[in-house]
Amino acid sequence: MNLILLGAQGSGKGTQSALLAQRFDLEPCASGDLLREAMAQGTPAGQQARPYYERGDLVPDELMVGMILERLKNLTDAHGIILDGFPRNHVQADVLDARLAEMGQAIARVIYLEVPRALLLERLSGRYICRAQGHVYNIKTNPPKTPGICDIDGSELYQRSDDTGEKIQHRLDIFFSETLQLTDYYARQGKLVTVDGTQSIADVNYAILVNLGAA
Ligand SMILES: [Zn+2]
Repeated sequence: MNLILLGAQGSGKGTQSALLAQRFDLEPCASGDLLREAMAQGTPAGQQARPYYERGDLVPDELMVGMILERLKNLTDAHGIILDGFPRNHVQADVLDARLAEMGQAIARVIYLEVPRALLLERLSGRYICRAQGHVYNIKTNPPKTPGICDIDGSELYQRSDDTGEKIQHRLDIFFSETLQLTDYYARQGKLVTVDGTQSIADVNYAILVNLGAA
């Protein structure tokens, strides 16, 4: 089973991806990690992508899809993948569908964690990250026990420079315009599952499982 998880930063996508990976024995494939790992391992697609990455250019869709297919071919115990961050538009989704079909594979479901913009803004602007290991806190929803200090490793918490007002607004603008394309695309294929992402982690997870026929 191959899934796509759609959700803005702050939608709880990372947490749900980890839960689904565990539940169904799937391998999480965030597009940034996929690219870095393919380059580090020197896979064919990774080698072709490296010059684009080093110039700071976007890696062509064909190469991103190539890395996804490489990952699928090399799965050892996992039963599929969870894509996060790719595709971003219907052109990429078309390329992905076509290449998966050549391998006898397909996307089973596309899960959209829907969270209203105002709530995303509140969650994102309250985000703090620990310097040592990147543990994520939120001053409103998940504060550390001691202000400014990571509960787990005691390191300092800081706010990323792009977790501030205008940059967040801009990222959300891009997210919503891209995501509308994708939700339309996968709704036409009958694969879209929209889940209310404002609920608790457990409730969101349960809603996803119900929609996948697994609860
Ligand atoms: Zn930490």
